[in-house]
Amino acid sequence: MKYESLHSHTTTSDGKMGYKKLLDTCATYNVGTIAFTDHDSLPNQKQLKELNDLKDHKTKWIMGIEMSSGLPKGVEGTRGMYHIAGLFVDPLNKGLLSHCAEVRERKIDDVKVLVKNLQEYGFQITFNDVLKEVTGPSMGRPHIVSALQKKEKNQKIIKETLRKMGEDAKHDSALKDTYDRMIIRGPDQYPYVLFLRRDAYIPGIYEKGGEMVSQEEVVRLIREAGGLAILAHWFFTRERVTLKVIEELFKEDRLDGAEVVYACDVPEWRKEIIKSMKDINQLCTKAGVIKSGGADLHDLEDIEIFTEETKEDFAEKTVGLAEQMVKKAKPNLEWSNL
Ligand SMILES: [Zn+2]
Ligand SMILES: [Zn+2]
Repeated sequence: MKYESLHSHTTTSDGKMGYKKLLDTCATYNVGTIAFTDHDSLPNQKQLKELNDLKDHKTKWIMGIEMSSGLPKGVEGTRGMYHIAGLFVDPLNKGLLSHCAEVRERKIDDVKVLVKNLQEYGFQITFNDVLKEVTGPSMGRPHIVSALQKKEKNQKIIKETLRKMGEDAKHDSALKDTYDRMIIRGPDQYPYVLFLRRDAYIPGIYEKGGEMVSQEEVVRLIREAGGLAILAHWFFTRERVTLKVIEELFKEDRLDGAEVVYACDVPEWRKEIIKSMKDINQLCTKAGVIKSGGADLHDLEDIEIFTEETKEDFAEKTVGLAEQMVKKAKPNLEWSNL
């Protein structure tokens, strides 16, 4: 009865562990199978060699990717995005690699703009400060946040803005909702909610260049790389991308399946997440599509929570997912050690 996390991040994107460290750690926590699903990124040459050497590791692994995608055609608010995981992809596929390179370039440009806007707001931060925080091949907001947190002046600005938002939230119920959720999720979230996202409390700092790759293109890229296109953590988009929309996507063969387990350590959300898992699971059964799932692992703490504190709600429901998936879809197993 080994648990599975077919959604896991490494230092190739925003995870804290490299491939080997993650596999070793999983082995000690009874996680038998994982998929590497880094954000729009794939292993480089050196890492590919490392993975080749990890083919006899006792933790089973699957090469994958997590792609940021535009919302399906027909869904209101085309500026929105959601995540689609690609499992069993070939990391040498040219189309996928050039997509990753484009996203990487775009992210660097985005970071430059954000840094400039943060400076104008009074923060002490430079592009080089952010660069120093980068450990993997791509750069993004997590590195900006780490750089920001290193300077006392920045901490002061964040604290003062947090106080202001708390005051404003007293007279604005929607804002109060956002504020409360941010506090529940903890200080790591403050810079994002206050400054670094589209609907941030302080507008005008977060800007994003370039067009989001469409859902059709994302799924095409995954499939051409031999992968299965899986809707990730539906919980976050369930209000916009409704069950009805997903049912259509399945019917028209525009997605191969969905994650029916999304382990999340926010106790206040747990009931709702479990409800959303049940709904999407039923739909997958009805549509006869692939079921996947996992913990969206990023660090050791995620693994501990997944396998110890919340295992009845999530980890236990992941047992056997990979086996069923292989049986049903018969993917090319070359980039896995299954
Ligand atoms: Zn995601
Ligand atoms: Zn993820």
